Amino acid sequence: MTATRPNWLALEQKYDSGVYHKHQVVMVRGEGARVWDSEGNEYIDCVGGYGVANIGHSNPEVVRAVQEQAATLMIMPQSVPNDKRAEFLEELVSVLPGNLERVFLCNSGTEAVEAAMKFAIAATGRHRFVACKRGFSGRTLGAVSLTWEPKYREPFQPLIGPVEHITFGDIEALRAAVDDQTACVLFEPVQGEGGVRPADAAFVQAAREITREKGALLILDEIQTGFGRTGKMFAMEHFGVVPDGVTLAKAMAGGVPIGAFAMTPEVADKMPAGGHGTTFGGNPLAMAAGVAAIRFMQREKLAEQAAEKGEYFMRRLREIASPKIREVRGLGLMIGVELKEKSAPYITALEHDEQVLALQATPLVVRFLPPLTISHAQIDRVVEAFARVLEQVNPREVPAAEVAEEKQTE
Ligand SMILES: *Cc1c(COP(=O)(O)O)cnc(C)c1O
Repeated sequence: MTATRPNWLALEQKYDSGVYHKHQVVMVRGEGARVWDSEGNEYIDCVGGYGVANIGHSNPEVVRAVQEQAATLMIMPQSVPNDKRAEFLEELVSVLPGNLERVFLCNSGTEAVEAAMKFAIAATGRHRFVACKRGFSGRTLGAVSLTWEPKYREPFQPLIGPVEHITFGDIEALRAAVDDQTACVLFEPVQGEGGVRPADAAFVQAAREITREKGALLILDEIQTGFGRTGKMFAMEHFGVVPDGVTLAKAMAGGVPIGAFAMTPEVADKMPAGGHGTTFGGNPLAMAAGVAAIRFMQREKLAEQAAEKGEYFMRRLREIASPKIREVRGLGLMIGVELKEKSAPYITALEHDEQVLALQATPLVVRFLPPLTISHAQIDRVVEAFARVLEQVNPREVPAAEVAEEKQTE
């Protein structure tokens, strides 16, 4: 007698909050850059848990560290020192540039941004923020205030602020926006959700100078760009800029939930004791995973791998002679292909017809965030699959205005 398998898809759809557009597959297992659905089909995963799986799914070294730590000690609040936490903090600070040597630990990206906002208020005594158009900072009320996308933000107004969103890259607009009431300027060194757009070095460097002149903090959001993704351990290293603080999460613990706001001593020292906190932050389980993940990244020179593989991936994508492609851009293995069509049907076809998972970033862009351990052969398979769907999928009739190059409008 064979037991009937539960219908996981129906169960999840029945009980889910409803905020997600659900895919029609049930994923059950992962290894490296591959994942498998409940029917046993194998996929190449260029979603990578939204850019979490930099060291590959179920990386054996993280698995071992988590297994050992789970059997040793899972929870101990940050008010009580812990051996794994001390080890993790030393490891993290050793890979961060400059004097980003004081760390608030939390459990997600949006919490890291919330921490950054509170530390910025405490450090400056100011309450105004400057962020960028197309920027994404998370979904809690503080972080979503900095996020630009109106459909994420507007239904929940009034939010935290005031926040001024300037055009990403516009130095004069930045200079005009930052004044003696600005607590911080916060943006991503490569915008992810906003369409995979690397910053100009001149803009990041100007942001450093302007914030310093005006007594505001510069905070970079490296939640998606950190830990080798862009071909350096942190994207800020491409620009030679050290901010006053950096938000971190996603890949930091190899797949275990984690977040952090790392800052200079000058910033940390201005927050009163008890000014912020979180129960799960710095829990030994995440710390053990984080130690194993960062050591793996360093030993395997994963950032260098991402730089080389990213160039290869983008070169191969540029070789696709499709009139549907407007631009291939990115940094390291953070890659976006802007189409002259809506990207969603192509992403769906990649999943259904080619067993390749890719991610949308704005309505026109297909985003690839594969594990940095992806092989060249797997990259080839993704590029060939993408070329086929570009050939085979007929664009839906959409008004030309909707597929024109996206502008940073209000
Ligand atoms: C994913 C992301 C966040 C939010 O992180 P969560 O863990 O989803 O809360 C914030 N900023 C950037 C740049 C991100 O990519």
